[in-house]
Amino acid sequence: MRRLWGYMLRRRGAVTLSLAGAALGGLAQATVPLAERQIVNGVIITHRSPLWPWLVLMVGLAAATFGFAYLRRYYGGRVALGVQYDLRNAMHDHLQRMDAATLQRMPTGQLVGRANSDATLVQGLLNFFPIMSSNVLLVILSIGVMVWLSPLLSVVSLVLLPALAILSYRMRSRVFPASWDAQQREGEVVQIVDEGLSGVRVVKAFGQERRELERVTRAAEGLYGSQMRAVRLQARFQPVLQAIPGLGQAAILALGGWMVLHHRISLGTFLAFSTYVAQLVAPAQRLASLMTIAQQARAGVERIFQLLDLEPGIADAPAAVALPGLRGDVEFRDVTFGYGGGGEAALDGFSLEVRAGQRVALVGPSGSGKSSAVFLLERFDDPQTGAVLVDGHDLRDVTLASLRRQIGVAFEDSFLFSESVRDNISYSRPDAPFEEIVAAARAAGAHDFIRALPDGYDTTVGERGLSLSGGQRQRVALARALLGKPRILVLDDATSAVDATTEEAVHAALREVMAGRTTILVAHRRSTLRLAERIVVVDHGRVVEDGEHDELMARSELYRALLSGLEDV
Ligand code: ADP
Ligand code: MG
Repeated sequence: MRRLWGYMLRRRGAVTLSLAGAALGGLAQATVPLAERQIVNGVIITHRSPLWPWLVLMVGLAAATFGFAYLRRYYGGRVALGVQYDLRNAMHDHLQRMDAATLQRMPTGQLVGRANSDATLVQGLLNFFPIMSSNVLLVILSIGVMVWLSPLLSVVSLVLLPALAILSYRMRSRVFPASWDAQQREGEVVQIVDEGLSGVRVVKAFGQERRELERVTRAAEGLYGSQMRAVRLQARFQPVLQAIPGLGQAAILALGGWMVLHHRISLGTFLAFSTYVAQLVAPAQRLASLMTIAQQARAGVERIFQLLDLEPGIADAPAAVALPGLRGDVEFRDVTFGYGGGGEAALDGFSLEVRAGQRVALVGPSGSGKSSAVFLLERFDDPQTGAVLVDGHDLRDVTLASLRRQIGVAFEDSFLFSESVRDNISYSRPDAPFEEIVAAARAAGAHDFIRALPDGYDTTVGERGLSLSGGQRQRVALARALLGKPRILVLDDATSAVDATTEEAVHAALREVMAGRTTILVAHRRSTLRLAERIVVVDHGRVVEDGEHDELMARSELYRALLSGLEDV
């Protein structure tokens, strides 16, 4: 909560205005019953003063109450929405800076649910905050005036306040865990629905709609049960919380009526008291709902800051330096690496030196660790032992930005955004001139099919646009990698979905692009091997053979076996 203050203090002006509105509004409201008392005692009963000044005062108070409420709501809303906006941005910014390895371990549906619903909860709480300040002031002033008017009547009408507080507190401690649980389950439901939609083709192809429905139903039932638990608790407590002020009012009527009849207090005082108690009912009830909102929002705030406190496992070291323009030497020095900081090693004593400008093909059985080596070269994670170096710099000693800018990677299933083809290609260099975009597309063998799209380079692709074939996607992704003119180019099965004839053309163009750049190709076809001057065989997380095609054919059983497994083009 204290950290939430930090966010509010950024909007000091609006916070002050809304709190000022709240305070003055509370003050105005607390004055009304006193004026009523004067009207009854001084004007109606004793005729000591004329009515009109009091009427003017009452109208003035009403106008002031309105004006201050406007101030409170308008600026309060601005603060609440503004803080929500800041938190959303902070969370998104933070998630973007998280390392890929950590994000992979987190269910994205829950993350998105978190970012949205928690920020909304906080906004709800902050909206409530000025109202509560106004109410608290009203309660304090009212009690002060009541005690001054009649201590006895105050005690009787206010004994129930502590009961209210205790009950609220009990409700708070019971409802909190229930609503927290419900929020967790909400994230689960979102995740399952999201999965079912993303994987809709698989679901339908295997005729598993019913099973997906059952999965959602089960999670939704869990959510329903959990929310109902919270509702049951609220149903049990809320009516009691609401009935208590009614009892207070009844006590006033009985005792106050008796006191007026016996001339202990004036009729005006009695009326003022009755108005005060009536005015306190709403804040007392609101206090109870504030408890609920505050608990939920606290859960939200905790999770937001929990998220913001997640340290990226992979970040720039304090002394990290920007990598100078690279020659392009790459070295894996006896690297051991397992996903999730350990577990089964994906790389186990992996050693490989690639000289600048060399074209190396990696071949190996599926799961042998080729992609994991690429993963480490981009420094999406650090090796447990050993080191990855470029131009002799340990990746842990250089800034991520300067590293990744100089490495271009295209994967088997690179992601395309639902933007135009042009924007997808120029993703890393939004200011790249159009000719360069076209040149990159040509080099990736994508230019011809892009021109044939409905709007050419301006065609929107991806989820909400035109769907491209797997091979077309891969070529757009390849163009994106090439546009940055990286010193080190890594193609990890990057053309696996491109048909063999087209791939020939892509390769012809790639040969030019690769000249002078370090290139690491994960090979899935024999033709890919022909692009390389050196072939490295990877097995069980380590390099087991290294040489030229003819040498390996002659001496390596594994290489021959792998080749016969590769597509023969
Ligand atoms: P290749 O690219 O040669 O097919 P990978 O490098 O993808 O092999 O995989 C090497 C090993 O690491 C495999 O045992 C695989 O199951 C495991 N692995 C790959 N990616 C992940 C991941 N994101 N999380 C956990 N394990 C992984
Ligand atoms: Mg792979």
